[in-house]
Amino acid sequence: MKDRLEWVEGWGMAVGGAGYVFRPTGPDGVAEALEAAGAEGLPVALRGAGCSYGDAAYRPESVVLDLSGLNRVLAWEPQMGVVDVEPGVSLATLWRMGIADGWWPAVVTGTMEPTVGGMLAMNVHGKNNWQRGTIGEHCSDFDIVLANGEARTVSREEDGEFFHEVIGSFGQLGIITRARLQMKKVHSGMLEVKAVSAPNLEAMLSLSEDAKDKWEYVVGWIDSFAGGRNLGRGLLHFARHLEEGEDPDPKSSLGAKGQDLPGTFFGVVPKGLMWRFLKPFTNRPGMRAINLAKYGVGSTIGDEKVYRQSLAAFSFLLDYLPNWKNIYLPGGLIQHQSFVPVDRAEEVFRDQLEICREHGMPSFLAVLKRHRPDPFLMSHGVDGFSLALDFPVPVGRREDLWKMVHSIAVPVAAAGGRFYPAKDAALPADVYRSTFRDGQLERFAELKARLDPERILRSGLADRLIYD
Ligand SMILES: Cc1cc2nc3c(=O)[nH]c(=O)nc-3n(C[C@H](O)[C@H](O)[C@H](O)COP(=O)(O)OP(=O)(O)OC[C@H]3O[C@@H](n4cnc5c(N)ncnc54)[C@H](O)[C@@H]3O)c2cc1C
Repeated sequence: MKDRLEWVEGWGMAVGGAGYVFRPTGPDGVAEALEAAGAEGLPVALRGAGCSYGDAAYRPESVVLDLSGLNRVLAWEPQMGVVDVEPGVSLATLWRMGIADGWWPAVVTGTMEPTVGGMLAMNVHGKNNWQRGTIGEHCSDFDIVLANGEARTVSREEDGEFFHEVIGSFGQLGIITRARLQMKKVHSGMLEVKAVSAPNLEAMLSLSEDAKDKWEYVVGWIDSFAGGRNLGRGLLHFARHLEEGEDPDPKSSLGAKGQDLPGTFFGVVPKGLMWRFLKPFTNRPGMRAINLAKYGVGSTIGDEKVYRQSLAAFSFLLDYLPNWKNIYLPGGLIQHQSFVPVDRAEEVFRDQLEICREHGMPSFLAVLKRHRPDPFLMSHGVDGFSLALDFPVPVGRREDLWKMVHSIAVPVAAAGGRFYPAKDAALPADVYRSTFRDGQLERFAELKARLDPERILRSGLADRLIYD
């Protein structure tokens, strides 16, 4: 076991721990890892691609079961857009496989790295959450291995209750070993995109609200350095799929090659090196200047622009700049994403932006989305908006940042909002728990006690927010 000891960390590189890493490539390897953990009396933390920002996909001094090697596509029905996959299949594999046949994953995250198992465990959403819901809403059935090694098939039709309890329960009720997903029909590899600027938070929210039924995708960027009457100003992007016949050459835009992100910036600088150019700006004055310039350009020459963009370029903007998170070293970064009902969103996000400014720790990247509720037990979805805030972890001021996260979380809970565990590293348990008001935590505890009484499946996040 000792030779498996490795440092494993959250995607933000701000939290991590040493665990005994198992990397199975077939179902037998999953059983082997469970047995080895049992023999040593160690808990098991499940891991996909490790794209959760904080402590969701590892636990110190535990077996870390990395499922990204279970990455076979088991079946693909190009007529129906239905795919059966092992849990380690990535979003990149899914879209590359589907697009040539005119299918695109119904829900995609801001990066194409996550695995199907990890996405179902967190029940991820995309920029079209209002229109299409979460990934769990596009899954019909999955196989799961329980902590005691028992295997089950769970389908939406036949085991609806358990289906909605497992998806979104952050890997605490069982190991997903196969899933079937329905992809979405597309007639072109291009989207029509409209860029709009908003002078303040009120305008950001009302423009998003007006756009949510007209456009498939709605996403906003907020300049969190702006204050006073400019507080919450930003840029919005709305996008829709092209209808049949709108793309003069769908064959080439639907080719995976037509989607590939360019390998260089300005045709010269290799993408992998670009973060090094940004590193000198990764401080408050630098980021203030970048945010100001972005808003300046977007609200003048970019305003009201309508253009076409490939699905991959629009969806996976963050993958344009490989290793961009390295600009946050040595401290790494954390993200905080809160979900707030429509009628309280302006007040809560205003509070959050102001609290960050008062603490001298404005978010370096702030993203706004529109959401809808979903039927999953541990859901973070609300009929409202989410604001995702990226923070560098300042060396020597880590505790201050964690305290600030507490301060910005309190108004969310008071307004009937929710938090997204995939993006969390710093929430206090009492605030997180207070957002479940309809017996969800009690039901979760009941399930855990029945399915995994010895708490074999654990994670840093589950310990911090639920078990400890
Ligand atoms: C740049 C970036 C952009 C992002 N954008 C979005 C976004 O737009 N929308 C969004 O919703 N999220 C977004 N995320 C978050 C990300 O989609 C989620 O954290 C997702 O869960 C990551 O998948 P993963 O395979 O990396 O899983 P991991 O992070 O490795 O694990 C996530 C959870 O899944 C559990 N798990 C993993 N595999 C299994 C399995 N086979 N069975 C059961 N449980 C399992 C783990 O224990 C853990 O609790 C983003 C993350 C990054 C880094």
